[in-house]
Amino acid sequence: MEKNKEIVLSGIRPTGFLHLGNYYGALKNWARMQYDYTCYFFIADWHSLTTHADTRELKEITRRLVAELIAGGLDPDLCTIYAQSDIPEIPELYMYLNMLAYKGELEKTVTFKEKARKQPENINAGLLTYPVLQAADILIHRAHYVPVGKDQEQHIEMTRNFAERFNHRYGEVFPVPRAFSYTEDLVKILSLDGSGKMSKSEQQMNTIYLIDDDDLIRKKIMKAKTDQGPASPDSKKPEYIQGLFTLLGLVSSPDIVEKFEYDFNHCQIRYGDMKKQLAEDMIRFVRPIREKAAALQNDLKQIDDLMAKGAAKARISAAATLTAVRKALGFKYH
Ligand code: ATP
Ligand code: MG
Repeated sequence: MEKNKEIVLSGIRPTGFLHLGNYYGALKNWARMQYDYTCYFFIADWHSLTTHADTRELKEITRRLVAELIAGGLDPDLCTIYAQSDIPEIPELYMYLNMLAYKGELEKTVTFKEKARKQPENINAGLLTYPVLQAADILIHRAHYVPVGKDQEQHIEMTRNFAERFNHRYGEVFPVPRAFSYTEDLVKILSLDGSGKMSKSEQQMNTIYLIDDDDLIRKKIMKAKTDQGPASPDSKKPEYIQGLFTLLGLVSSPDIVEKFEYDFNHCQIRYGDMKKQLAEDMIRFVRPIREKAAALQNDLKQIDDLMAKGAAKARISAAATLTAVRKALGFKYH
């Protein structure tokens, strides 16, 4: 790792298989950032407990995610990949930050309100303090940038507040981190029925996973929602059609996109043909990632070694931060 590079942190919850949304919304950027910054990417296994209390599959999903992240472009020699639960410094920082977080601001968080609505039988305190744990994840490496999707903007803002409060009260320890994106518009990959976004834990038949085999990809895309086509030239596309064009733009060549745009604007589009083309181009994109991930997963030792190495690297940075934090707080008796 080079000195003086700015620090980047991002994570992903082990709640299911990686999908196109994770790839285009997160992983693709991470794979690019690893060349420009000192990057920490982690599997947020503690975070998954707030919504997925059953831990029986956690280990398997975590290892599989690591394999998928590497297959999708992360290079463990360029960036640090680790599991959150391997870094005991995080919960200590989380505890200090909890003293700086107010009940009112936590209750106002959009994701908390959403999740509380979805699981009224389990509104646990961890769900409420999720943004504080996330702040600890970021601040433990004194990160400057956090590449995240649109859904996470409010959490970054809260992290900034906690960092500022800490610095103000106890002395400058943390850089105030910022959300990061290479492009102005954050990508959002819609589910294939246009009803929401692709997701690890919901919408499984309307989400394309990087492990889906060729036939399943074909099947999902051929079932994607369409209609009879536009009634007048140059119409505005309904969301579910726009979603398909977005996917086409990501995996197909420009002349193909242009052809279907032309057909749409001239009211001669045949969605069956477009979906066939999209399916074949999608398969071409997914197949090598799927195959690489499968090969890696067959070598559990390699994954475990890599996670151990990542954890050791991450702990060096985490321990240095925690020493600075304890010193600022005055917890140093001998
Ligand atoms: P879950 O359903 O368990 O919440 P998820 O699919 O929403 O899983 P997360 O682990 O919450 O995935 O998010 C990982 C990263 O992927 C985040 O940076 C998030 O913004 C991004 N992301 C998730 N879904 C999409 C999507 N459909 N389009 C673009 N980016 C996405
Ligand atoms: Mg999510």
